[in-house]
Amino acid sequence: MRKQLFSLLFLILYMFPACTPKPESLLIGAKIYEHSGPYDQLFERWNELGINTGFCSLDLISDQEFMSEASDHNISTFVIFPVFFNPDTLAHSPDLAAINRDGEAAAEEWVEFVCPSREGYRHQVVEKARRIVRNHRPDGISIDFIRHFVYWEKVYPGRDPASLPISCFDSVCIDHFQTETGTAVPSSLIGVKEKADWILESHSDEWTRWRCGLITSMVEEITEASREEKPDILVNIHLVPWGEEDFDGGIKRVAGQDINALSEHVDMLSPMTYAHMVKQEPPWIHDITDEIYLKTGSPVIPSIQVGKAYLNTEFDLDEFSETVEQALKPPSGGVVIWSWERLIAEPEKVTLLKEILEDH
Ligand SMILES: [Zn+2]
Repeated sequence: MRKQLFSLLFLILYMFPACTPKPESLLIGAKIYEHSGPYDQLFERWNELGINTGFCSLDLISDQEFMSEASDHNISTFVIFPVFFNPDTLAHSPDLAAINRDGEAAAEEWVEFVCPSREGYRHQVVEKARRIVRNHRPDGISIDFIRHFVYWEKVYPGRDPASLPISCFDSVCIDHFQTETGTAVPSSLIGVKEKADWILESHSDEWTRWRCGLITSMVEEITEASREEKPDILVNIHLVPWGEEDFDGGIKRVAGQDINALSEHVDMLSPMTYAHMVKQEPPWIHDITDEIYLKTGSPVIPSIQVGKAYLNTEFDLDEFSETVEQALKPPSGGVVIWSWERLIAEPEKVTLLKEILEDH
């Protein structure tokens, strides 16, 4: 019901540009991972800038003083909640790792993922979400790393879609896939690579649908548990910033994110449109936002890069300014800065952000 109301509101706003959301109704967020305080000064600064929502690490959400100062300054708090990226768990239990089509743990630089089929792990994740919401009462939960393994941060336009990684081919996933879809992998196939090749060559659509289901059901379970603890909690989800057609349908085929199905369970969608980092121009941020909005009718709050990341190429004030403008273009429901730490490292960008937000 709440989602339908949101959708109706945004549809009206989109159809009648004169009704474009006023700044106070836009979600202006900042991802913040650590802060030494004092928190009252931090939130006074956010009030001056027009930032109304923090997407915060669990450490900050667990800090009572942080939460009470946020509330005193009318700042909404979302806890960033990573799901299948869990290096600590994998360090203790490497057998939980997602497996690629060569039979190896799916990993690239810092990116490594847990197999999404392990009931024990999934249960732990849901109970962790429940505990966080019960104990710390954030206004929202922002579900992160909710996808299959892919190091999308280094996937650039023109990348051969066939070179993108598909996982997980461990025995748990292959067994569940067979049982739940009625597919029988020929018993003559012994190795992981042989089985993976057979699945991808002859049953790729069923495989993609089934893998998307693993991600969607995880979101549904986390959302349900969170709402049981706090019925008015808002749920956001971090999306890989790929359009439906990009990389041969990679958003579903690789990442396992079925955006329409996911949107049924959450209040808002936040594509990680870090344009500079993935070698896109700022208008691409609007294109992705627009596509997701038209597809789902859900509020879409693009997250944007504000400092250098991964690439060492210059990210100057003009590009930053256009990045913010494109992110705020209707039908966007706002913007999330990634991250506060990177923003304040460049004071000119703080000033520029304030000016842009005042003009909107
Ligand atoms: Zn698996």
